Amino acid sequence: MRRKLIAGNWKMNGMTADGLKLAETLAQRAQQAADYGDPPPPACDLLVCPPFTLLWPVRDAIVGSGIALGGQDCHTAPSGAHTGDVSAPMLADIGCSFVVLGHSERRQNHGEDDATVRAKAEAALAGGLTPIVCVGETEAERDAGQTLAVIARQVEGSLPVEALSAADAGLVLAYEPVWAIGTGRTATPAQVQEVHAALRGQLAELLGPARAEATQLLYGGSVKPDNAPDLLALADVDGALVGGASLKADDFWAIAGAC
Ligand code: 13P
Repeated sequence: MRRKLIAGNWKMNGMTADGLKLAETLAQRAQQAADYGDPPPPACDLLVCPPFTLLWPVRDAIVGSGIALGGQDCHTAPSGAHTGDVSAPMLADIGCSFVVLGHSERRQNHGEDDATVRAKAEAALAGGLTPIVCVGETEAERDAGQTLAVIARQVEGSLPVEALSAADAGLVLAYEPVWAIGTGRTATPAQVQEVHAALRGQLAELLGPARAEATQLLYGGSVKPDNAPDLLALADVDGALVGGASLKADDFWAIAGAC
């Protein structure tokens, strides 16, 4: 049985005061749920991925709460002359256990292709992080009936198959249709399940059935408290990668409560 993961991608949002307040509120709720069972703890794992500037204070705010910390990107190299970049070992050093890679905003705005995403995922695994590799089609690709082909190509190119086979490490795969990100338009449960089932099948081919069954597949794209129950009930949806709604403690907690 795969445990669900609800991950908050804060993107480029949050000054110190807001980020700290959000992290402290989430940590208090998690602590209260763990200590008193009222309200009961969410039946899922929780992860927050703040901007780099907030990793340190957020780490201190959530320590001991059971909430995990993740970065939003990392470089392919462990260190060196890469002005403005952050490496996987640096993220691990500060307390991260996950890193989001290949988000469509990075693919679009920073020209990251599948090979780059794969190299970053290899670096993440080597640095002791679990990569959350994102894939997803544009609206034009969906309209042209290319959704499954586009996603299969992205998975083929972005997944660090050899590194995963060599290491006993896992990865998380996130399906984020580009047209559903920040638009308020969520993919329908049928659309999501179709893609996730295809992803599970492709993972079985690439990594074998046991690894495919164990891999968490997240959906992202306008996940909110009202649509989370239907999405999280799908057979191949093992959690959510939440953008806008992860910036509000009540909404993020409500989504986690839908697990
Ligand atoms: P929204 O939840 O704001 O649509 O963002 C989704 C996303 O991109 C998470 O990585």
